Amino acid sequence: MKAVHHLTILGSTGSIGESTLDVVARHPDRFHVIALTANNNTERMLAQCQRYQPRYAVMLNARSAERLAKEVRANGLDTEVLSGVESLEKVASLPEVDSVMAAIVGAAGIRPTFAAARTGKLVLLANKETLVMAGRIFMDVVKKHQATLLPIDSEHNAIYQSLPHHFNGNLAAAGVRRILLTASGGPFRCAPLASLEQVTPEQACAHPNWNMGQKISVDSATMMNKGLEVIEAHWLFDAAPKDIQVVIHPQSVIHSMVEYVDGSVLAQLGNPDMRTPIAHALGYPERISSGVTPLDMFKVAQLNFEEPDLKRFPCLQLAYQALAIGGNMPAVLNAANEIAVESFLKGLMSFTAIPSMIEQVMQSVKCEEMTTLDDVLRTDNVAREAAREWLACLA
Ligand code: NAD
Ligand code: MG
Repeated sequence: MKAVHHLTILGSTGSIGESTLDVVARHPDRFHVIALTANNNTERMLAQCQRYQPRYAVMLNARSAERLAKEVRANGLDTEVLSGVESLEKVASLPEVDSVMAAIVGAAGIRPTFAAARTGKLVLLANKETLVMAGRIFMDVVKKHQATLLPIDSEHNAIYQSLPHHFNGNLAAAGVRRILLTASGGPFRCAPLASLEQVTPEQACAHPNWNMGQKISVDSATMMNKGLEVIEAHWLFDAAPKDIQVVIHPQSVIHSMVEYVDGSVLAQLGNPDMRTPIAHALGYPERISSGVTPLDMFKVAQLNFEEPDLKRFPCLQLAYQALAIGGNMPAVLNAANEIAVESFLKGLMSFTAIPSMIEQVMQSVKCEEMTTLDDVLRTDNVAREAAREWLACLA
């Protein structure tokens, strides 16, 4: 008999959340949903409650929670509706939960993800911002509380799959020379540089290969996403920045590679569909079906590779800089990026102002060491404030 996983899905109404539920629905004997959480989309949450009958549903927003609670009662469901960040932390650390999918977008995901790690859960980590903001602190918490971390980000999941089975965190001992982190290059890989000033949020969100939430779609267009992923890979695999090579691969079929000292390069391939890494992590160490269409090599026909152009993608350079500076700087980079992306999506600034804002904020916030989650949250606030000031000056 297979063990039943008792799951909390943080950010269940988002792109990763819905893909997770899609995989879960294919294996009703294997997964039992205990809690679902969302920001304010009550309609989608109600539909999920009807289908998956979780014990808890958390809405960040109190008014959304009130609305949902009414609907839940009207539909005769037993789900208990909660609200607020503390409730997100509560459902991430319930004793009856063994696995937590961390799929809230941005810095908002950090507290519940920490709560899951602190209570020794199997953490399925999609929220890369947690590792960017608090890499060392988070990895220490994972170790201290014997939590297990499985990467959901497709590149890191591919690297995990391409590493030896019992990888113990030491790349050199495993015979690894480099990590080759693939990137699609996003929608503006070939656009004339002069046209970037004018691109619209709609164009920036139209990713050629992946269907994702808005924030990560803009991050892919600036390649900040790859920058955040370099930092994520650094912490997950204890890889020195010089041993992480970003490779532009426009087809998004190879999801990343590991190069060994004997010249072997191992890769994980598949159609660009997040249900593959999600199913890998949910089923681990077994393989379970995901609903993803099998890869047709004859249709793919060609795989191409290019070196990233840092003039076109200054955000990638800024992320390498933040990692080299260390301390609070990756958290500053992340916070400034979140405000920049949000402002671009609201039409308050241009696409090309995104790296300008981040660079200015990185220069204006003092570099410091951080030792606790509170330090991280404080840095996040300070950097957001600096970003808002920059925006006010721009206006
Ligand atoms: P999304 O915008 O589609 O969904 C985000 C989810 O988080 C929603 O359920 C939303 O209700 C919830 N949320 C938003 N703000 C919140 C807040 N302040 N408090 C609590 N909940 C909040 O995002 P997504 O594309 O699913 O991405 C989720 C995470 O996964 C991100 O960290 C992203 O970088 C990562 N990721 C996504 C993909 C992808 O294909 N979408 C791939 C790799 C990694
Ligand atoms: Mg990725």
